[in-house]
Amino acid sequence: MTDHLLKFDNVSVIFRIGGGLGLFGSERVVALKDVSFDIPDKPGISALVGESGSGKTTIARLIMGLLRPTSGTVLYKGKEIREWVETDKERFRREVQTVFQDPYGIYNPYYKVDRVLYLALQKLLHVNDSGQATSMIIDAMKTLGMRPEEVLGRYPHQLSGGERQRLMLVLSLLIKPRLLIADEPVSMIDASLRAIFLENLLDLKNKIGISCLYITHDLITANYVADEVLVLCHGRLVEAGRGEEVIREPLHPYTRLLVDSMLLPDPRARASIGASLIDVRKLSELKPEKGCVFRYRCPYAMKICEEREPLLIEAGGTRRVACYLYEGQAV
Ligand code: SF4
Repeated sequence: MTDHLLKFDNVSVIFRIGGGLGLFGSERVVALKDVSFDIPDKPGISALVGESGSGKTTIARLIMGLLRPTSGTVLYKGKEIREWVETDKERFRREVQTVFQDPYGIYNPYYKVDRVLYLALQKLLHVNDSGQATSMIIDAMKTLGMRPEEVLGRYPHQLSGGERQRLMLVLSLLIKPRLLIADEPVSMIDASLRAIFLENLLDLKNKIGISCLYITHDLITANYVADEVLVLCHGRLVEAGRGEEVIREPLHPYTRLLVDSMLLPDPRARASIGASLIDVRKLSELKPEKGCVFRYRCPYAMKICEEREPLLIEAGGTRRVACYLYEGQAV
């Protein structure tokens, strides 16, 4: 028995781009470096926060078994994901489900949306009686506040992005996975449906006890749903801790930047900070060869930050941080 549902243990992923041989060789891109975290075996939502290119999607692909780590291990219920996929794929697919940024690809445009739900019930729960399946679907939709008569019988293009996304949560309610990977699930839906979707996600945690890794670039939605926040910067875990603590009192300069941009009352000012993040990110894509990955943007960078990379250290309570500002200090 393990006390964690999911465990990343010193996971690195290095891609080789170009695949050149001989004189020129291939380029190494470090997508993740020595990432360690776990999701406990109890209901909860952990938010994985970072800008695009920070390694969030690489983490999602590792959990889904679509990618293998270059080093380190990814365990689900104490067993490597690779082993689950090779030996017990059906159970793994039932227990670990994903909601993608744009679920349109899940639906076949030539079939009504209902088909996805019926097929999942048939394949994963072996429900072959269509009457039983219909009543399960209607109950699940009502539980999440959807009106079956407005959704069932429609084609994917006849629903809004938010409705298609909420149907993915209906699917989760039907299949009852242990772990849900929600990869930027609200970034493409209207603000009005965003709050409803997040409420539904909290319903799944509270009603069926799922654990969720909520992957986002947006600290505002993370703040709304997350029990724990993990901050990723250029493939490194730079801060982790209880959600409210990380957001109320961010330690890492990168987390502070994310929180400052979230707290600006004027959305235009937020947008301009967002824009400056993107501009500077282009600069920082000339990634430091060594030292702290955030040092090109850090107002506190010191000599040591150029020389070697800070390790993730305990920073009191549930907090961990990778920054020389906290080395040797009791926080
Ligand atoms: Fe800034 Fe140095 Fe901390 Fe990196 S290690 S965040 S450069 S102070």
